[in-house]
Amino acid sequence: TEHTIALEKRHRLPGGQTMTDLAGLVVDRARNAEVWDTDGKRYIDFFTGVGVCNIGHSHPRFLADVQEQLAACAVGTFFTDVRSRYYELLSSQLPERLGRIHMFSTGSEAVEAAVKLARAATGRHEVVSFWGGFHGKTQGALGLHGGPRKRHSGPFPPGSHQVPYAYCYRCPLQLAHPACGQRCVEVAEESIENSTLGDVAAIIVEPVQGTNGNIVPPAGYLRALRRLADRVGALLILDEVITGFGRTGSLFAFQHEPEASPDVVVLGKAMASGVPASAVVSRSELVEGTPFAAPSAAASTFGGNPLASAAALATLRILLDEGLPERADRLGASVARRLASWTEEFPFVGNAACAGLMIGVELVEPGTRHPLPKDVTRGVFQHLLAEGVLAMAYDSRIRIYPPLSIPPEHLDEGLAAFERVFRSLSH
Ligand code: PMP
Repeated sequence: TEHTIALEKRHRLPGGQTMTDLAGLVVDRARNAEVWDTDGKRYIDFFTGVGVCNIGHSHPRFLADVQEQLAACAVGTFFTDVRSRYYELLSSQLPERLGRIHMFSTGSEAVEAAVKLARAATGRHEVVSFWGGFHGKTQGALGLHGGPRKRHSGPFPPGSHQVPYAYCYRCPLQLAHPACGQRCVEVAEESIENSTLGDVAAIIVEPVQGTNGNIVPPAGYLRALRRLADRVGALLILDEVITGFGRTGSLFAFQHEPEASPDVVVLGKAMASGVPASAVVSRSELVEGTPFAAPSAAASTFGGNPLASAAALATLRILLDEGLPERADRLGASVARRLASWTEEFPFVGNAACAGLMIGVELVEPGTRHPLPKDVTRGVFQHLLAEGVLAMAYDSRIRIYPPLSIPPEHLDEGLAAFERVFRSLSH
């Protein structure tokens, strides 16, 4: 273990990893919701590469399909049977009007393509995103970020503007839901209207803010943003890179609010269960006749290659055949009850909420909403590791992403470890 870590640290660019470094473990293998390190220690995986493994690690059917495609042909962007079948299956799960799909390799790349598409489709240039929102680390995607990760990386491409998100626990307007009447949406509108920027091409939003701590907005929020987009003449882009593929308890988060009906959806992460794959799905008529529809305008070396397509097809089939989005919804309801008991029992657990199996817990100074210092959460992270649980904890917000296929006893085991750690903190 020490040798592997020392070897890697000698060669790699510092900044390549963060929380996973703190864990100081070397992963050997993984099955469904369990991971083993090279010392043979076993963990419950509440991290899953930031919610990438919705079907569980090393699913036998996934392995078989991907291995078969790898042996047949892995590269190139010719027409392939596997990609056409993937497009057909994905389309069958989406509203009819979202009829155009194009694949890329990473979430950031797909976000940037979605922005280009919106600009091409509307002839407008500005993009509105949200405080606390995160859309990736390439220059264009990071330019949309409404938080600290931008530091030292600019200047960014011009034309982006951030507005408040419905983060009700820490309401940016100091109001309380539902009495606020979703004032944040009105403020967003005023801010767009008063901005010195030009016309808005798109509003891009995460249905649940992932990197900000798995922040679940109130029901009806996406619907309100849909109306806002219509009022300002912009497209609504939903970044479902984390929320997609069942994570929030429906195949896509916007399906909880059908009237939210986006113009463009960005997909990634769990789409191909670890084989890099992402996609932009858009309303059929948006791209026709625009520069974005020109040959090669959206093509890339790896996007939609046979390997990625096979991995995406296998993933989607497994999600559907095994009813994993519904399972996430069911298990999420039991997690929500457990989280409610945590806020009762532990005075330092502030906001604790989930959408399906997208779970966020904030640690605060008891009796306040002040975040607990980073080293306390890091201590919790280390303590959880010792208890055999991998979770995400950078600052005062803990993020939990179990596979949607997690056996209930493993989910319970992981949550019980949290309870032991929290109890030890209480003393
Ligand atoms: N959008 C969202 C909502 C994300 O959470 C992320 C990654 N955390 C991205 C986009 C960027 O994806 P990638 O890291 O694959 O570029």
